[in-house]
Parts: sequence; C-alpha cells; structure tokens
Amino acid sequence: MKQSVKEDIQKGFQERLNYDELMNCMRCGFCLPSCPTYGQTNQYEASSPRGRIALMKGVVDGLIEPDATIERQLNQCLGCRACEPVCPSGVKYGHLLEEARDVIQQKKKHTWPVRVLRHFIFDELFPKKERIKKVHHLLSIYQQSGIQTFFHKTKLLSLLPGNLEQFEKALPIVPSKNEMNNRPTYLKAKNQTKRRVAFFSGCLMDTMFMKINDATLKLLQQAGCDIFIPEQQGCCGALHAHSGEKKTAKQLAKINIEAFETLDIDDIVLNAGGCGALLIEYDHLLRDEPEWQKRAEKFAEKVKDFSEILIELKFNEDHYLSLPDQTVTYQDSCHLRNVMKTSSAPRKLLRAIDGTFYKEMKGADQCCGSAGVYNLTEQKMSMQILDDKMIKVKETKAQTIVTSNPGCLLQMRLGIIREGLQDSVRAVHLAELLAESIKE
Ligand code: SF4
Ligand code: SF4
Repeated sequence: MKQSVKEDIQKGFQERLNYDELMNCMRCGFCLPSCPTYGQTNQYEASSPRGRIALMKGVVDGLIEPDATIERQLNQCLGCRACEPVCPSGVKYGHLLEEARDVIQQKKKHTWPVRVLRHFIFDELFPKKERIKKVHHLLSIYQQSGIQTFFHKTKLLSLLPGNLEQFEKALPIVPSKNEMNNRPTYLKAKNQTKRRVAFFSGCLMDTMFMKINDATLKLLQQAGCDIFIPEQQGCCGALHAHSGEKKTAKQLAKINIEAFETLDIDDIVLNAGGCGALLIEYDHLLRDEPEWQKRAEKFAEKVKDFSEILIELKFNEDHYLSLPDQTVTYQDSCHLRNVMKTSSAPRKLLRAIDGTFYKEMKGADQCCGSAGVYNLTEQKMSMQILDDKMIKVKETKAQTIVTSNPGCLLQMRLGIIREGLQDSVRAVHLAELLAESIKE
C-alpha cells in the first residue's frame, strides 16, 4: 500500500471509528473463546476480537500504520459477532468492523478487474431485482436443460478453481422465470386474523430460495397472519454493509423503509438472520441523517424473525406437527442469535414436531464459516471451520440439520457433500421443515 493511501485510511479511521467504543474494550479477553478465527489460528491475538480492536485503536492513535496485515486481519474476521453478547463492556464490535472495512475499501486503489467486479455485484446486480431474476433465470436454464447433468457426468466442473465444484452441487434447484415473476403481494390469514404483518422477501430469498419464502408465508397464514408483501422493497444491503459499500447499503435501506412505512401493520417479518440483523440496525446505519434515522427506528422496532411470530401466536400449540422418525439438530444463524437475539424460538418449534428427536449440537452457537461471501473470499479458513462443524454434526447422529439463514443452509449442504453424507443427511431451512410437518 502506498503511503498516501495509508494516510487516507488512517484519517478515515480517525474520523469514523467511534473512539468511545474503542476505549470501552478493557482487554479482559472474555470474548476470546467465542471467536472462531482465534480458535482456528491457535489463539493468535491479532486474529481475536480484542486483537482486532487493539489494531483499529492503534491506527487511530497513530501508533501503527494501516498496512496489508491490518487489512488481512479485518478481512479474516467472519463478522459473526459472537464476541458481542459475551462482552461485559458491551463493545459493539460489529459496528467498528463495518466502519473500518468501509474506510479501507473506499480509500484503497483496487485493480481495474476488481473494480469492475465490485461495481457489477454491488451496484448493478444486488440492488436491481430484475437483474437478479435474469441471473437466476440463466441458472434455471442451466439446471433444467440438461447442461448441468452433462457437466456432472463429464466431471468438467472439477476444472473450476477451489471448491467451486462442491458449491455448484450445494445450490438449490432455482424456480422458473414464471414462478419468480408471479409473486403474491397480499395473503389472507387462514381462518381467524390474529396479526397484520408485512413480509420482507429479500433478493436471494425470493429467487434462489423462493420455496423457503413460500413455506414461510404458508406458516404465517396458518398462524393467523394477514400478510402484506410490498413490491417496492429490495435487497436489504447486508452484503454491501459488510463489504465496505455503506453508501449503497444506505440507499437500499431507504428504499425498504419507504416501501414499508405506509403500511398499517404490527410486524415486519423475515426468515433470513443475515438480512434481519441489518434491518434492525437500519437506525444505526442511517445515524448521520436525523430525519432518516427516526424513520429507520420505527421500521427497526417492527422487525422480527418468523420463528418469534410463530411462537407468539402459539403456532406450535395450535397445530399438530409430525414427521417420520428422525433426529434433528439446529445450527444457529450467527446474526439471528447474536444480533436479533433469537435462539430459543427455533428450538421450541423444532421440539414441537412429533416423530423427531431434537439433539442439541455442541457449538451450535458458533459460526459455520459461511458469513456472506466469506466462504468464497476466505476459503481456507471457512473450510477449516466447516470441517470442525461437521465433526459436531456427526456427533449428534442427526439425519436433518436445520438452519435459519440461506448462507448457513448452503454451507451445511457443502459440509454434507464434503463428508460424503448426501445419502443419509440433509440440510433444510426451519420454515421448510415446519411446513413439511403440518398436518392440515
Ligand atoms: S470481551 Fe469486550 S471488553 Fe473484553 S476484550 Fe473482548 S471486546 Fe474487549
Ligand atoms: S465477529 Fe466473529 S470472527 Fe470476528 S472477531 Fe468477533 S467472534 Fe471473532
């Protein structure tokens, strides 16, 4: 990194990192055991939450230069925020990380291929629903036309770098173009209306994982919800916020706030922990714009995971749920657990299914290594974490692994493929399993 870039980054850190938050860290180390990267690096201090906070503070204080080593340590952080609930000082580590990454990405001079790729992904793909649908349409043609089967038979995909071949196998069958276009905008509660909710459908959740959205909507209807699904909503912006593209994340937040604020509803419901964690922090994201922050606060207050709503409406008590005999285990979505603070509702729902035996997995609260695009950008660390996770999965002897986030779901499917367990173990989203278990 050139000296001028380093100076710009340092200035950016000084202007934007909350110094009180950096000072709040009293270096007690309570967060260390919960940090997956600290564990995987044989307890290397710079790869821990405490170490990363010290590095950020060192740059702000002018004691160290923001060089490639610092960037490396911040990139290697999963952003799982498992360090936050255990911190006695309540350090908001995630906010510090988000700000630091944004400064580095904005000040850094990327090579032109990286600039083009980032521009395409962050500005041209995710914020534009129609483009996302087009990409999924191409994927659907690839999966349905026989090209995928040909590639699998000829093993041509083994020429792909890294473990992209395994990733390709972990992808779900995506819906057709017509299915993606014919999405509902309103659904009436089955029987009596108990709650009026708005559904946050997400971008990938309403294309690649559309069946999970459909299952969630069915459950909410069964639980007694009238559901509004505003067409104007878009991507939540989590990928942007975590990758140093805060400006676009803010624009996306404003689009979503506008799409939901005129609705007369009790809750904004969703089924992806990664998206939910940003939605409930829209007020923090927009804290520099007082008018928007107020609107964001009202929005954020209403955001809930669908599992919370189902428990509140006693869905598990009012419905008979059953499945063929099987052992089930649950892998927490880090953001659902550590930011949205939802961990008991999914477990209560799973325990209510007759025929299943719920087995808690050791370290279910620890990240699976998916973390947005981390499993592509930090493949080695991600696979180390996943392989450890699969040891714990195997200890439960579960036939079904349940998760509450699309990234975790893909990662668990990848883990199953890596272990060669495709014939005996499956990974599903909580909504899919519950929908499967309803006896109407
Ligand atoms: S637990 Fe909190 S206060 Fe203690 S070292 Fe970690 S971040 Fe700092
Ligand atoms: S966010 Fe996760 S990986 Fe990053 S420092 Fe905290 S616990 Fe470690």
